[in-house]
Amino acid sequence: MAQHHIIIGGGPVATNAIESIRQFESGESRITLICDEPAHSRMALPYWLAKQIPREHTYTANDDFYKRLNVEARIPEKVQSIDPAANTLQLAGGDALQFDNLLIATGSSPLNPPIPGIDLPGVQSLWSLAHTESLLKTTDTLKKPRVLMIGAGFIGFIMLNAMYKRGWQLAVVEREPHVLPRMLNVDGAAMVESWLSEKGVEVHCGTTVQSISQGDGSTKVVELDGGQTIEADVVIVATGIQPNLGLLDGSGIATDEGILVNDLMQTNFENIYAGGDVAQGPILHSDQTAMHPIQPTAVDHGRIAGANMAGQDIHYPGSLLMNVLDVCGLQCASFGAWSDSSAETITMSNATGHVYRNMLWHDDEMVGAIFVGRAGDVGMLTDVGMVKGILQTGTRLGAWKAHIQENPFDIRRPYTALKVAQQLAGTTLLGRAAQPRQYRFGGQEATVPPNPSHQVYVSTK
Ligand SMILES: Cc1cc2nc3c(=O)[nH]c(=O)nc-3n(C[C@H](O)[C@H](O)[C@H](O)COP(=O)(O)OP(=O)(O)OC[C@H]3O[C@@H](n4cnc5c(N)ncnc54)[C@H](O)[C@@H]3O)c2cc1C
Repeated sequence: MAQHHIIIGGGPVATNAIESIRQFESGESRITLICDEPAHSRMALPYWLAKQIPREHTYTANDDFYKRLNVEARIPEKVQSIDPAANTLQLAGGDALQFDNLLIATGSSPLNPPIPGIDLPGVQSLWSLAHTESLLKTTDTLKKPRVLMIGAGFIGFIMLNAMYKRGWQLAVVEREPHVLPRMLNVDGAAMVESWLSEKGVEVHCGTTVQSISQGDGSTKVVELDGGQTIEADVVIVATGIQPNLGLLDGSGIATDEGILVNDLMQTNFENIYAGGDVAQGPILHSDQTAMHPIQPTAVDHGRIAGANMAGQDIHYPGSLLMNVLDVCGLQCASFGAWSDSSAETITMSNATGHVYRNMLWHDDEMVGAIFVGRAGDVGMLTDVGMVKGILQTGTRLGAWKAHIQENPFDIRRPYTALKVAQQLAGTTLLGRAAQPRQYRFGGQEATVPPNPSHQVYVSTK
């Protein structure tokens, strides 16, 4: 009898796992996908909010995709509980399904702090298709919407950037002493704060929201702990996320901060896998595990889990913590152990130019980095890519460490001399060259004309 794989979720873990299963299995299995919303990329939501793409371009699967990969898609449906002993799961609609292998890829959800007024209309999170739709609807009738965002974290700023592109009036309140507290140190964040103030974005750090009340018309009045009030049409709550673990209650599937998985992406039940935002998995060059709720980790987890569900024995080397962000034209990146207080640092800073680099070392090994610089600075962007490669490969810098100390803008020479690109090119996640992914749905042609950079960098002419 054909194996039955059930996948819960419709994000990058789920779609990558489906493709991996189909690429690696020896005989065709049965795949059922269960998700409570259409399969889509949350990363694409800011482009929809900025009106650069329509809603449908955020979708990562459709009927053609399911047909081509022979997937039974049960969308929208919700899984309520899992019984690992019986290899069954229960749907909220009443059906019970039997599986041979299960992949839990339920992602995470926004956390709402207990602030009086948080349930008022016009106060919302900004995490899902529904949230984006609701914000577009609320703001469509306003000439220059005033938006106040509570929380100055990575995802919040991704959405803030989209609102900035729309020309909205923006303010941010952050409880911690500086913005992006889980991505940048105090000096890197200072660059971002001064940049934001130049761009007309109001920033209030080290303060909390005490209450939100309804003012005139669509106005919300937000009171801070010092008594100051700020008026806004919309309040976005971006104060953090939590993994979607509710369906595990009583299942015996082991969790810590998230679902604990080994380097095969297996939970404590060997036929039950987990990945992405909901999973706590291996970290690159470490024997620890961590939550890395970012897209690259989700994609890796999905590909590894899918291959192993299809009978392979592929071990995941672990994820690298990385956040790369455009804050209204200022590019910020942090990698690896960027906050390791025991590490030696090489730092350069130019406040007027909004340039900041902090590289962290244990002996001659770079273990983490923070880079801030203008988005238009191509040198900065390529250096960010090269630093990521050095960290991914764990290359020891030897005498080149002193070179970087003297020339923090010359990452290219050590990167080339130490053959980091060759090491990366020889590394494959799944132990073989990438296979064609057939991303286009059903022969659909591109609907967006190539822009000038496509013509320069991608065109065959
Ligand atoms: C606005 C936004 C922008 C982002 N931008 C970036 C970025 O630029 N770079 C980056 O690295 N990361 C980014 N991220 C984070 C990235 O999108 C996530 O890390 C990634 O989506 C996680 O993938 P996943 O498959 O684990 O979960 P998800 O993509 O969250 O998918 C999980 C799906 O499972 C569904 N589900 C949950 N519980 C159940 C259930 N019981 N039954 C059925 N279905 C269920 C959920 O509704 C959801 O559709 C962004 C996130 C957001 C919200």
